[in-house]
Amino acid sequence: MQALSKELKDKIIKALEARQAKLPCPRCGHQSFIILDGFFNPTLQTAGEEPVREGPSVPMVVVICKQCGFISQHALGILGLLGQDQSPPPGQKIPS
Ligand SMILES: [Zn+2]
Repeated sequence: MQALSKELKDKIIKALEARQAKLPCPRCGHQSFIILDGFFNPTLQTAGEEPVREGPSVPMVVVICKQCGFISQHALGILGLLGQDQSPPPGQKIPS
């Protein structure tokens, strides 16, 4: 897996700050976080009762509290980061 570039992480941080996502950790109050070196791309299951492995997905950036490890996720589409330059790994995506 290729790590996210510093430039992309800076864009993510700016996008989060622009949307006021800059409060301390909700679990421990710590104010320092890391961005995971890859995107989460969980599959969204919209029908049926049996789990599926493929389908539409919601690409997300993962932010981890440096002190307690609390994980938060932010949809890249909402942050305006699903452009061609920052596309996550191939797969179906829900329109932003
Ligand atoms: Zn924490």
